[in-house]
Amino acid sequence: MLESDNPIASLSDWWYSRNHPAIIAGPCSAETRDQVLKTAALLAEGKQTHLMRAGIWKPRTRPDSFEGVGEQAIPWLLEARDTYGLPVCVEVATTQHVERCLKAGIDALWIGARTTVNPFSVQEIADVLRGTDIPVLIKNPVNPDLQLWIGAIERIRKAGISRMIAIHRGFSSSGKSLYRNRPMWEIPIALMSEMPEIPIFCDPSHITGKRDLLLSVAQRAMDLGMHGLMIESHIDPDHAWSDAAQQITPHQLNDLLRQLNIRSVSGKEGSDENALIALRSRIDKIDEEIIHLIGQRMMVAGEIGEFKKEHDITILQLERWKEIGITRTQWAKDVGLSADFIEHYLDQIHEESIRRQTEVMNYERDKTSPKSNQQ
Ligand code: PEP
Ligand code: MN
Repeated sequence: MLESDNPIASLSDWWYSRNHPAIIAGPCSAETRDQVLKTAALLAEGKQTHLMRAGIWKPRTRPDSFEGVGEQAIPWLLEARDTYGLPVCVEVATTQHVERCLKAGIDALWIGARTTVNPFSVQEIADVLRGTDIPVLIKNPVNPDLQLWIGAIERIRKAGISRMIAIHRGFSSSGKSLYRNRPMWEIPIALMSEMPEIPIFCDPSHITGKRDLLLSVAQRAMDLGMHGLMIESHIDPDHAWSDAAQQITPHQLNDLLRQLNIRSVSGKEGSDENALIALRSRIDKIDEEIIHLIGQRMMVAGEIGEFKKEHDITILQLERWKEIGITRTQWAKDVGLSADFIEHYLDQIHEESIRRQTEVMNYERDKTSPKSNQQ
């Protein structure tokens, strides 16, 4: 719940106290004054939203679709904030957008996925932000490029902005997917480990593209310890002017948030820390054994390499590899490991075995090459 009259100032308390996620909610797009005010009224009534979002300049893939109502919506948002006490945030993609928002006193800005992708645009935005300290939310770029996301955060930080939130909204890809934008959780996880000081929120609306999947993605984000959620909420989702299929009413938003199971890094008060330490030490032991076993496996692979070398046999034996695939997949299934996991694991093992055997095969030649002499 709100712990301060100025939620933006205390955003950091929410993500560090970690008692519950901070919530950014609001329509994909501001459409009319009436829609903005009604949405704000219901979000405020639900007491779960800390910051209201509404796009006013919409980056659309194709021209001739609804591109936002523009600047005329700024007074509607300010009226909503002043009436219902919810700070407001808007997407910015150009220096003019930033200037208009700063001048009007919008509380926070977000940089969309199609802008994060372009370092020139991000730098221009950073340059106009210099000298202000407005909170800036930075969505991941549309393509799965962690460095580009980090680069955008760095550019904004270098401009002197201290309050930033990274927003995970998924990544576009070709091919069929359950999601509008694949979550590729490994990328936000890598961001969390590279920039632990930057709070990270999940945007299940743009990941899923469908309201039915919002809860499962939001729960996953909470299970990973993400600090908040950005969820699109509209008073009449089916008739929204953009992203209709993924929006939910403020009432449905409250239901969704109530269903979330919020876990924290330290757990509930009174949780048995020793039990966790004991489990972790079992994991450490198992990992150590696995790594030793893999080391031994590779030594045997090296011996096979010697044998193949002596008998002039090719390294790659497709029949043998096929048989390994079949037996290991069955063994993995028997102990409840997924087919996907064992497939990745076997690929890695195979690659490393081939590398070892290639090393053995070429040992005599490499030994006399100047490159190996340098080692
Ligand atoms: C949005 O938040 O409405 C939006 C356009 O998002 P994204 O940049 O993630 O596509
Ligand atoms: Mn949207």
